[in-house]
Amino acid sequence: MSKKIIVAGLGHGGIAAAALLADAGYDVTVYEKAEKGTLGYDWTDIFAPGALKIAKIPMPDEDKYEYKEDMTFVAPNGTSKLRQHVPEAELEIKMERKDIYDLLITNAVDKGVKIIYECEVLKPIMLGNRVAGIRTSKGDFFADLIIDACGMNSPIRRNLPSSLMIQKEITRRQKVTIYRAFYNKASDVEVEDKFKVLLRPEGAESVAWVASEEEHTDLLIGRFEDFDMAEVERFAEWLRPDNPRLGTEIVRGGQFVEIPVRHPLSVMVADGYAAIGDSAFMTVPLIGSGIANSLKAARILAETVINDKTQGFGVEALWKYQVLFYKHLGTGLAPLECVKNLMFRFTPEDVNYCFDSGLLNDYNITMTANFGSFYDLIDFFDVNDLLNKAKQACSDIEFFKKMIGAGNKISLVSAACLAIPRRWDRKLVEVWAKGYDKFF
Ligand SMILES: Cc1cc2nc3c(=O)[nH]c(=O)nc-3n(C[C@H](O)[C@H](O)[C@H](O)COP(=O)(O)OP(=O)(O)OC[C@H]3O[C@@H](n4cnc5c(N)ncnc54)[C@H](O)[C@@H]3O)c2cc1C
Repeated sequence: MSKKIIVAGLGHGGIAAAALLADAGYDVTVYEKAEKGTLGYDWTDIFAPGALKIAKIPMPDEDKYEYKEDMTFVAPNGTSKLRQHVPEAELEIKMERKDIYDLLITNAVDKGVKIIYECEVLKPIMLGNRVAGIRTSKGDFFADLIIDACGMNSPIRRNLPSSLMIQKEITRRQKVTIYRAFYNKASDVEVEDKFKVLLRPEGAESVAWVASEEEHTDLLIGRFEDFDMAEVERFAEWLRPDNPRLGTEIVRGGQFVEIPVRHPLSVMVADGYAAIGDSAFMTVPLIGSGIANSLKAARILAETVINDKTQGFGVEALWKYQVLFYKHLGTGLAPLECVKNLMFRFTPEDVNYCFDSGLLNDYNITMTANFGSFYDLIDFFDVNDLLNKAKQACSDIEFFKKMIGAGNKISLVSAACLAIPRRWDRKLVEVWAKGYDKFF
């Protein structure tokens, strides 16, 4: 009899892993709380198409996607700007979220995955230290392996016993609250910078984008605190004089959502359990993109499961998934949380300085479809140039101290990631995970 696998939540990584595992002969069922046909948001997402190939998912039809525009980054002073120039071959694609889901679900169902909709997962069912099943709104279900793809607030992860050493909660600064809506196009005026990203607008700890599209203007506001519609409207009004195409009528979207922007889980596996996607915090902490990483992680997880000689899916076997995830993705992702945290330490004047001094430039602010790691970020910096800029920065001792502090933290975090225990040893992993988490 084939081994049973449950995927809790129809997250992107979960459904991609489900397809790979069903294709390999496993009996895979996904339990999703939403109604069939209602998944996703009423807006588009941007991601690297190469991740589809890694997860063995076909490219979508050409009429289902377009290539992302280059972004123009605007400093808090509102006048200093930098523009990306992403080479054509390295552009990300932009797709309706519902079409991404259609692609992933069709692929999975074709491979034999069963999906139970309108079934809310409530908590894990434990058998000693093993995750043996899930309690749901439609009853209890048991399997040999539970893949947790329920997203950032997964009720499975949050209800696991502490003895499994898996972090349950996320701090306020490790998640960003996003409001996003498409507004009507208020004017036909030609816009020079079609996709503007505003860093620390009004000096607040926030980011926003205003993207002028043919039919509408896409507004996104991201903050590290809760905010409401009154604040959205006030801010949109503040933007309008400089963005005359931003209308007042919401034509699509108009929702508040949250994205994790932190290092991946320090322990993401247990006996019979593996977390993937947002439930394991696999987004790029600097920009919140998580689709490509979830798809890549799906391939690593599926291969680990298939290669488990005992097919017992114990923590020793699943730990290999975590080690490979850190090798290929996590070690590059985690230091980006330190870069994100530097943004909290910088004053708006510091950010202006980065733009005006040339510390940041059109070249190093260009993030291609392959961007997903701290090492991709520094690839874009010329070390000699950086040292010269650092000398200039020495004249501002406070700014220099912040840069040095972040540099030290990044080195320590990178070293911690590289020192991940290669084999599961509970004591060793406990010491490693505590030390690693302490940096954040
Ligand atoms: C506004 C916004 C914009 C984004 N834009 C981009 C982008 O442009 N590019 C990019 O790469 N990434 C983007 N991301 C991030 C990206 O969506 C995620 O990182 C990625 O989808 C991985 O998350 P996930 O699929 O694991 O989790 P989720 O997307 O959170 O999916 C979890 C799934 O589990 C289901 N679920 C949750 N709880 C339960 C439960 N109790 N029982 C049953 N089912 C449950 C949910 O309904 C959902 O289907 C964006 C995120 C947001 C919120």
